[in-house]
Amino acid sequence: MNPPLTFTPLNAWANYDTKPLIIAGPCSAESEEQLMQTCLGLKQLKVDMFRAGIWKPRTRPNSFEGYGSTALPWLKTVRDELQVPFAVEVATPQHIDEALKYGVDALWLGARTTVNPFNVQEIADALRGIDIPVMIKNPVNPDIALWIGAIERIYNAGITKIAAIHRGFSTFQKTKYRNVPMWQIAIELKTHFPAIPLICDPSHICGQRDLLQEVSQKALDLNYDGLIIESHINPEVALSDAEQQLTPVALGEMLDKLTIRLTRSNNAEFINHLEELRSKIDHLDRELLEILAARMLLVEQVGEYKKENNVTIFQIDRWDEIFRSRPEWGKKMHLNKDFIAEIYKLIHVESIRKQTEVMQNNTTATS
Ligand code: PEP
Ligand code: MN
Repeated sequence: MNPPLTFTPLNAWANYDTKPLIIAGPCSAESEEQLMQTCLGLKQLKVDMFRAGIWKPRTRPNSFEGYGSTALPWLKTVRDELQVPFAVEVATPQHIDEALKYGVDALWLGARTTVNPFNVQEIADALRGIDIPVMIKNPVNPDIALWIGAIERIYNAGITKIAAIHRGFSTFQKTKYRNVPMWQIAIELKTHFPAIPLICDPSHICGQRDLLQEVSQKALDLNYDGLIIESHINPEVALSDAEQQLTPVALGEMLDKLTIRLTRSNNAEFINHLEELRSKIDHLDRELLEILAARMLLVEQVGEYKKENNVTIFQIDRWDEIFRSRPEWGKKMHLNKDFIAEIYKLIHVESIRKQTEVMQNNTTATS
């Protein structure tokens, strides 16, 4: 196994007092006036870092692609006047060069960059020898290996001030989100890199203002280290992502409503009770596995019996009945029907695998 990557802790590079780190600013820098007005509002909220898009990777040509380098002096003025660090998205080595000339404090790689290892490597090569924090968004598609790979490429270029930004994933399914969060992927990333700071981007997950509160709260409940949220002084006229941007005042109200939970407690009563509940869970998990093992043994016996009688493995009526009845039984026990259906899909796949093994073996299957 490779040694764990040693990232610089977030509080050693981000301007932040208490968790969560809050990064906010417009989707795009549109004018010096827009940037200054927005950031003045955000400064009052004690936002830890500003963000603004300069080079906007739009999906289709002819939509607003950002003001490019023209906007960099605006950023510098705002940053110097308000004394708050500024982060921008970079997608090419030239972007890095230009951003650094204007004293940008942190960079991020967008979802459309993380998706392309050639692109990420070019950026990594350009960053070698530069001491700047880099935040890496998840790729557009739900492929954790691409996200891990991008982090490794940047890390291998000598950057240790790294954070991962979770901005959700595109999907063909119709959902209420612009990009479905698939929280389990971000949690898996954190399991892979326990020391990596994890920042949630509710704006690009939600795509609309109404959902921002619940998604931000969920991220904090999952112990994320920070939030990056789009804010515009006048979202109605925003040139990009108008529906998901909040005014600084609305953002302040949203942040005030967030509940910040403890990650752990030293209270002895709490610790004892939690231990007690967890040991009951451990006990039930053993029983659950014993029951599953006993069920699989019966599945094997069914396989043997079908084989002896020359009957096919897959019998649609039987599985239709299982998929119909088990979620119903579960519902009566106050279990979520979709959850039970998912469990039975997995059991079905494994049952078929077992029975195929039995059919193909001359001896009795043991694994
Ligand atoms: C952005 O943060 O403005 C942006 C373009 O986001 P993403 O890369 O997540 O689409
Ligand atoms: Mn945006």
